[in-house]
Amino acid sequence: MLVGETGVGKTSLLSLISNILQGHSPSEYETVYDPANESGLSGKHSQTMSAKVYKFVSNNGITIHILDTPGLADTRGLAKDEEHKANIAKTIQAHMPFVNAVLILANGTLPRLGVATDYTLSVLSSIFPRSLASNIAFMFTNVSTPLAWNFDKNSLPKVLAEAPQYSLDNPVAMQQRLLQIKREGKADAKILRRLTASVATSHNDALDAFVDFFNWAADCKPQPTNEIVSLYQKSEAIEMRLHEAMSKILRRSELKKKLTRMISDLENKALNLNALRNYESVVAQSIMVTQKTSDYNTLCVHPQCHSNCHESCNLNFHLDPKALLKCTVFDDGKKTTCNKCGHSYRDHRHFYYTWEEHKEAVRAVDEEAKAKFKQALLDRCGGEWMRTWHSKQIKRLDSELADATNEIRTQAQAYASLSLSGSFSAQLYKAIKVLEMNLENIKGKETDPDTIQGIEDSIAQLKEKLRILQSDAE
Ligand SMILES: [Zn+2]
Ligand SMILES: [Zn+2]
Ligand SMILES: [Zn+2]
Repeated sequence: MLVGETGVGKTSLLSLISNILQGHSPSEYETVYDPANESGLSGKHSQTMSAKVYKFVSNNGITIHILDTPGLADTRGLAKDEEHKANIAKTIQAHMPFVNAVLILANGTLPRLGVATDYTLSVLSSIFPRSLASNIAFMFTNVSTPLAWNFDKNSLPKVLAEAPQYSLDNPVAMQQRLLQIKREGKADAKILRRLTASVATSHNDALDAFVDFFNWAADCKPQPTNEIVSLYQKSEAIEMRLHEAMSKILRRSELKKKLTRMISDLENKALNLNALRNYESVVAQSIMVTQKTSDYNTLCVHPQCHSNCHESCNLNFHLDPKALLKCTVFDDGKKTTCNKCGHSYRDHRHFYYTWEEHKEAVRAVDEEAKAKFKQALLDRCGGEWMRTWHSKQIKRLDSELADATNEIRTQAQAYASLSLSGSFSAQLYKAIKVLEMNLENIKGKETDPDTIQGIEDSIAQLKEKLRILQSDAE
């Protein structure tokens, strides 16, 4: 994220970053942005310009998103503040889930930051839930030699005293002046040689400064915005309800399959005392529920795994399963399958939830019914009792399956109506993958067509949402 007061050369800095990332030397510089863009800002009557995101791809394939916030550092009427903050927050959310680094551009020939910087910092602190202080760096422009650096470091706010500081004499701007001088033909060859050499020096210095800056930025802990945090919490809660409902469908479908086999065994006179085990699992129908926790945990989302693989995981919070490879259950990255549950790292996520088993204990202790069941098994004439019991249980399972299917429809609807932005598409994509994985499992359980249809509809709805998010992000 780039913040700069008027007249610090933000446009040519964007140009420099683009050229550096593409490995250009001064003679290969390309002007990426129309300087007319910035000229509107320098005038007194500059209109509010929207925050913009620039996407740069380096020649080694790394993509960098830079959020340019024109006018963020311009003090203006308070009435504009809210509108302005909202605009910046919206742009961040539309294009990036997190901000890694905030680079404040300042004119290094001036002794102190403008009042605008204080204002900027207060705007930023209202957009982000946590302090951004450790994500902020300064870049002082127009500093050709350390001697030209007039900035008084004591004028910085205390929390930013340790913020990295870089200085720069932008070679892109210099190269433009050089080309102009050449075109005008006013300077002799000796002066031109000297100017060319000094552009090259500035280019190398700029390269050094940006290598330092990008290394620092890569180590910064990414900061989500308030809005992102709240949307993430909502989508996480929905995902948990989906997981619960899916788990319920899988368990109930399994039971139904067992019961169906049992009744056909009964008809074929092949039912024996082993069926007593079915009785236990049918009446003591346990379900897995998720419990909100204050810490995040590494959980497995593989169908029917329900493993709380690492509670209160000590890694930084990550949305990307790949980053979880550093979790202790993967031996800090030495393994790709979990020590705890045996599933791939791809099936693991950080959630502020844990899985808990919830047993319907009351039904489990009905010894009288169990004795009747046993008697029916022993008694060749017990078929009638067994059939009644069986159809009652099937009815119960069916109604639970219908409830869970409705729950999936409801939650998919809720997910689709969240006002998500493009930065959520990876999140949603993963949620859809988990649903699809569950659906495959459910199909293997001879589940009734209504349940399958319900899940397929819900997945289709989420896929449509994903398609919209992805086309928004382009
Ligand atoms: Zn697992
Ligand atoms: Zn862990
Ligand atoms: Zn695991």
